[in-house]
Amino acid sequence: MDLNLKKHHNNLLFLPLGGSSEIGMNMNLYHLNGKWIMVDCGVGFAYNIPGIDMMTPDISFIKQYRNDLIAIILTHIHEDHMGAVQYLWEELKVPVYASNFGANFLRSKLTEFKLDKTVPIRIIDSSRPLNLNPFQIEFIGLTHSVPEMKALMIKTNKGNVLHTGDWKLDPNPVVGDVSEIDKIKEYGKNNEILAIICDSTNAVNKGHSRSEGELHNSLKELIINRNGLVGVTTFASNIARISTIAKIAKEVGRKVVLSGFSLQRLYEVGKKSGYFTEEFDFISDREIKFYDKKQILVIARCCQGEEMASTRKIASGIHPLINFSKGDLMIFSSKIIPGNEKKIFELFDLFAKRNIDIMTEKDHFVHVSGHPYEDELREMYSLAKPKIAIPVHGEFLHTKINCEIAKDCGIEKTIQIENGLAINLDRDRINECEVVGKVKTGYMGVNGKQLIDLKSNIIRERKKLQEAGVVIISLALNDSLKMISPFRVKSVGCYDLKNDSDIEDLIHKEITFFLKNKANELDIHGGFGIHILRKKHKKKKLRESRVIQEIEKSLRSKILRIFEDIIGKRPAIEIIIHISN
Ligand SMILES: [Zn+2]
Ligand SMILES: [Zn+2]
Repeated sequence: MDLNLKKHHNNLLFLPLGGSSEIGMNMNLYHLNGKWIMVDCGVGFAYNIPGIDMMTPDISFIKQYRNDLIAIILTHIHEDHMGAVQYLWEELKVPVYASNFGANFLRSKLTEFKLDKTVPIRIIDSSRPLNLNPFQIEFIGLTHSVPEMKALMIKTNKGNVLHTGDWKLDPNPVVGDVSEIDKIKEYGKNNEILAIICDSTNAVNKGHSRSEGELHNSLKELIINRNGLVGVTTFASNIARISTIAKIAKEVGRKVVLSGFSLQRLYEVGKKSGYFTEEFDFISDREIKFYDKKQILVIARCCQGEEMASTRKIASGIHPLINFSKGDLMIFSSKIIPGNEKKIFELFDLFAKRNIDIMTEKDHFVHVSGHPYEDELREMYSLAKPKIAIPVHGEFLHTKINCEIAKDCGIEKTIQIENGLAINLDRDRINECEVVGKVKTGYMGVNGKQLIDLKSNIIRERKKLQEAGVVIISLALNDSLKMISPFRVKSVGCYDLKNDSDIEDLIHKEITFFLKNKANELDIHGGFGIHILRKKHKKKKLRESRVIQEIEKSLRSKILRIFEDIIGKRPAIEIIIHISN
């Protein structure tokens, strides 16, 4: 059922466009009295789409109401929450709110896209509510793997919604403040929370997530007795982990190399925002050669096997300045994100083939998650005491299990949501709090600096090329459709001329036969010529004339048949016909 916004004009609606029943691309809309706010604007990994590594949610729905969209509010700096701002802001053109660290980080990213002076970035003042009429927003700091993660208490005349963002309950987050759980407790005590929109990433994990602070000793133990080069690879945004590793390096007498632009940027932004106050011994990768291997600790991004990232270059032995060899160690201080397994295992293999030791979360305590395990979810539900739980930030299984945990904690109502579904929320009519409509959703692919629709011809054509290659045939014909010079054929990724030389003979025969028949059929011999036919379409350019198009189309299907018969594949066939005047 399509969402009827007229009917729900005065209703509080929650409507995710991304991040529900999927990991990544978090984008959540809230609506009341015809006004909207967007919470988070993230990207996600794309799989098996040629030339596309990242995606954003399709925002065509909210674009229609962009004049009523008041703000984009970012909970924290992770790519799945703010990575799409540079691609989508031009289409929305609204102020973007973030914490001080978030704003500094976003501005530095926007510089790359020459948008830093264009996008109005407003810094959140956590000490007082932000009034975005009809929404009043209070910010509540929760611990995560990055500092200044802000949960939102969205207060409205229809009830209060706690939008948690990504969180865990970590008594020692290393960088940043501990969770302001007392604020949530206070709301819960007074039964003031109508609904909680909650992180589900680790809902399947029993117990309590481990603390960032605990990791220090474990990593130090693994590094302290090594005599070779040591590397630690982690997410490029994990400021706490970088701080932990830099501290360990200092304690064990190693200098730290931050490999890659994104890590250096994070360090600069972190320092500017008041983090990294301790003096660490950083050197550049150009200086490595002046030291013994056992004096160096390399921090590299990224850990998900990305093609261009420094970890992959190190693994392949092609990094120009960082040279790992037999007996050196690379620690993967990160999680294997579902969907990235193949790329990551390829990376492990590259290290193994060169006899470089690796350690991962599978075999050592080298990583802690930034998301709540079951016990933390239970604690949150028991403190917040919401009437309704709507789990987000997870695949279907994660949100389903999070619903079960919420139910088990005695929460009156749980709603399992998917992208594009709008839920009506009203504290006076809990029974009517349900899905009330659906809007268009989908994905856009990040294609270099542009976005393209993943259902577009460009992607379809790329897939076809990937599958069977392309054959381009160029024909120069005279007025009577006779070839005036030998035709030219070029194969890209379709066949090999050395092994399949008979293919071109067949193409030649087919073309000659086809043109002869076509000329007879059109009766363009004896001076009438194709120019006569062309006159009928004189408003169109020659290349676009129907006659030429028709010839190209028929010839394409005949030549395609040759490839189907011989190779058993359907390549893309491009035929270019030039008619001499
Ligand atoms: Zn996060
Ligand atoms: Zn996230």
